[in-house]
Amino acid sequence: MTYSALENEIKTYEKRSPKSREAHLKASQRLPLGVGSNYRFYPPYPLFVQDANGVVFHDLDGNAYDDYNLCYGTLMAGHCHPAVVKAVESRLKLGTTYGMPHGLELELAEEVCARYPVDMVRFTNSGGEATMNALRLARAVTKRDKIVKMEGGYHGGHDGVSVSVKPQAADFGDPQAPNTVIISEGVLKATADATIVAPFNDLEATEAIFERNPGQIAAVILEPIMMNIVFVTPDDGYLQGLREITKRHGALLIFDEMKTGAKLCYGGASEYFNVTPDIITLGKSIGGGLPLAAFCASKETMSVISGQKMYHAGTYNTNPLVMAAGLAMFREVLTHDAYTHVDAMERMLVEGYQEIIDKTGMIAYADGIGANGALVLYPKRIRNYRDWYDHDTEVWMHYWYGMTNRGIVPQPFWPDEQWTLSVQHTEKHIKAHLDAFADIAPALAAAQHERKLTAQAV
Ligand code: PMP
Repeated sequence: MTYSALENEIKTYEKRSPKSREAHLKASQRLPLGVGSNYRFYPPYPLFVQDANGVVFHDLDGNAYDDYNLCYGTLMAGHCHPAVVKAVESRLKLGTTYGMPHGLELELAEEVCARYPVDMVRFTNSGGEATMNALRLARAVTKRDKIVKMEGGYHGGHDGVSVSVKPQAADFGDPQAPNTVIISEGVLKATADATIVAPFNDLEATEAIFERNPGQIAAVILEPIMMNIVFVTPDDGYLQGLREITKRHGALLIFDEMKTGAKLCYGGASEYFNVTPDIITLGKSIGGGLPLAAFCASKETMSVISGQKMYHAGTYNTNPLVMAAGLAMFREVLTHDAYTHVDAMERMLVEGYQEIIDKTGMIAYADGIGANGALVLYPKRIRNYRDWYDHDTEVWMHYWYGMTNRGIVPQPFWPDEQWTLSVQHTEKHIKAHLDAFADIAPALAAAQHERKLTAQAV
């Protein structure tokens, strides 16, 4: 149920962006939903982009926005980072793709192996391809079929992980043994059936899954911090516990580090949490805005590929443009100094949000580490999907449209996402972001309290 303050923000959004409305209407004739990826559609229509540079993008109506969406967290470099642009330009006239090895892929693999606890890398063009092949790798190594994924976890659009991404309460099942809920028509049921769903932050439940499926589970795949249900950190000892359980049962542990790999800290989640998984998948910000992802593991694990037992291929894999962008990221953008800067901006943003939340009496908290963080509309720390499920989507939309109308896109649309800071955000940007939040927060607090009273009265 919408409410008037939210409706007013949506009206303002529509008033500011008539050209996006028109473009979306036209695009819908040729592109299902009018977009190139289902997730990009949101009501009443998505903003269409004219151009972007640094931390700013313009929509078709010429409105400028400070960008904290940054392509779903792909641009920790910010838009058009000079090092990335230069690297790509320098390769552009030397051939854009060869389908043959050229040496840059080794250079980039060396960078990856220097930073993360892995010996070998296979690059892919998207995160979904990386997790799909990571799972195939785990099956090839263990000669087992089943995998375990977390309720609320997202790992791309392929069938094996297209279950229980955002299940509805009616389909939940037992909290300790959640149902496997297929997310889309067309998913092969037999593939989905091989995916068992576990609750995040619950070692006992995972242990029980292994006991119910002895010798059958190839891998547990998860984001070390769940960032497709806002921002859910692991309890102390949880990742260490998963490491121990998987090892004891002869299964592999896969950290899907699309978001944490570059943006949590210099060495990603294994450095931050001091846990070494068997396979790491990387993507998003390692490519500086170009389509680069990877799955990485020890020499021993990768021996099924080296020994031609497992097939992994792709026409565009390791094309020199993307490799050059990746090298610029690892060597020039994702430096220790960059993390010091981003950490300082992050502290300013999270603490600033929390102060405003406390002052206005919002039922919420701010959380974040490294380049990622979010406003969480929940009274206490979220530990798993079912906690997150209880949030108030309307108040969240009020926040998003309210901020966007004030020239700050605070994160991608949809409340399961979070903000990304880039190396190009400065104190000036953080201050503008906090000013916008301070402006909208009293209305959000009022809406929350009013809706709570209404809900109690019903
Ligand atoms: N894994 C995680 C954790 C992700 O967040 C995403 C994308 N949001 C993916 C995999 C899929 O990546 P891509 O969209 O590049 O296929």
